[in-house]
Amino acid sequence: MRQILIKNGYVISMNSERQVFENGDVLVENDKIAAVGRVQAEQINSSAEIVDASGKIVMPGLINTHVHLSQQLGRGIGDDVDLLTWLRKRIWPYESSMDLEDSYISSLACCLEMIHSGVTTFAEAGGQEVDGMGKAVEKIGIRGILSRSTMDCGEGLPANWQESTDTALHKQEELIKRWHGRANGRIRVWFSLRTIFNNSDELITRTKTLADKYRVGIHMHVAEINEEVRFSREQRGLTTVEHLARLGVLDENFLAVHTVWLTDREIDLFALYNVKVSHNPAAAMKVLGFARVPEMLARGISVSIGTDGAPCNNRMDMMSEMYLTTLIHKGRTLNPEVLPAEKVLEMATVNGARCVLWEDQIGSLEPGKKADLIIINPASAGTLPLHDPVANLVYAMHSSNVESSMCDGQWLMRDKKILTVNEEEILQQAQQRAAVLLKKAGISLPNRFPVIKIR
Ligand SMILES: [Zn+2]
Repeated sequence: MRQILIKNGYVISMNSERQVFENGDVLVENDKIAAVGRVQAEQINSSAEIVDASGKIVMPGLINTHVHLSQQLGRGIGDDVDLLTWLRKRIWPYESSMDLEDSYISSLACCLEMIHSGVTTFAEAGGQEVDGMGKAVEKIGIRGILSRSTMDCGEGLPANWQESTDTALHKQEELIKRWHGRANGRIRVWFSLRTIFNNSDELITRTKTLADKYRVGIHMHVAEINEEVRFSREQRGLTTVEHLARLGVLDENFLAVHTVWLTDREIDLFALYNVKVSHNPAAAMKVLGFARVPEMLARGISVSIGTDGAPCNNRMDMMSEMYLTTLIHKGRTLNPEVLPAEKVLEMATVNGARCVLWEDQIGSLEPGKKADLIIINPASAGTLPLHDPVANLVYAMHSSNVESSMCDGQWLMRDKKILTVNEEEILQQAQQRAAVLLKKAGISLPNRFPVIKIR
C-alpha cells in the first residue's frame, strides 16, 4: 500500500462539521484519504512519503463546475463585443474549425491553468472533439466530467454542426460507452444541452430519459441573457425554466449554468426540483448580468462556482472566481454581510461536489473519500499577514499561492511544477495551434492601437 502523510498543516477539512485542524495531518493511502486531523505513528508504514506542510494550508481541491476545455485556444477572441457577435462571429467559427489535436492541446492547456489555480475536478460544458478532451484528462491526471456540445436546431449554426436529434443523442451515448468511468473512475461523461435557442423539445426530453438511464447528469446554459427570456416566451410560451419544468426535465441531476435572468417563480422551481446551479461571476459581469446567488442559497439550492471558457472570462482561475463571487453580490445587494468567505469556500468545494453528483467521493477531506487536495502557501507579499486563513483564502490569495495539488492520490503539481506533462511544451503548442486555428476560422481581431512593425 502506497502512503503519503502530509503533516503539520492548517487543514481545512470542509467535513460536515467544517472542522479545521491546526498543525493537522492528512494520511493518503493509494487513491483515498485514510485519516485527517491527528495521525498516529503506528498508522504510517516505513516507506510512506512524508510532506511537511508547516505554515501552509491543506484543503480539498477546488471544483470548477462550468468550463469549456476546447475554448482555451480562443482566449482573447471575444473581448469587448456583444453576445451575438461573440457567439456567431467568433466562437462558432472557432469551435467548428477545430480538429481532434486542437481539442487535445486546448484541453491540456486549460487543465494546466486549472491545476495551477487549485482545481482538481471540473465539469465540462460541451465542446466538439470530446475524444481529444478525454485523452488530455487521462494524461494530465485531473478529475473531470466531459460532455459534447449538443445542438439540433436554431439559426446561424455552422454547416458541419447541423445534425438530427437522433445523431446528437447517439453520439453522446457512444461517448458514455467510450469514456465514462475511465482512468480509475476519474473521467465521467454527462449529457449536454447547449441552450434553449439550439435545442428542440424532443432533444431535451429524450436527453432526460437517457441521463436517467445512464445515471449521469445534464449540463445546460440557462437564462443567460434577457433575450433568452423573450425568445422562450415567444417560441415556447413560457420562460426557459418554466418550460423545462413543464417538459419534466428539472431534477436533481440537472446542472443549470449562469441562471442570470431568473424570475422568483423559476427560483422556486429550482428549489422544488433540487436543481443544481453553477455561478460564473466573471463571465456574468463581462457579458450577462448579475445572478441572484444569495437568494438561491437562501432557498437551499446548491450553488457552486465555475469559470466558463477562456473567450469570455478570460481566466480559468478559481481563486479569482471565489474573490469575484463574494464581491459581486456584496456590490449588487449593497450588503457587506452576504456571501461571507466560508460560504464562498463551501460553494467551491462541497457545493461543487454536490453539483457534479460526486459528493460521496470528493469535496471534503474525510476518511474514505478520494485523495483530491491542494496545499497553499500563504507566504507572499499579497497575502501576509495571515490572521484569518479562511477569509484570506477568498479575499487575498491568488492562484500563485497554490503550491501543490493531488488528484486521486497522485501528485499533479509539487512546488508549482506540473509533474504529469511538460507544461512549457504544451503552452508553446497552444500558441502555435491557436494562431493557425484563428486563420482557418477566418477570425481576425482589429488592432486597438496603431501597430508599427519595426522588423
Ligand atoms: Zn459556458
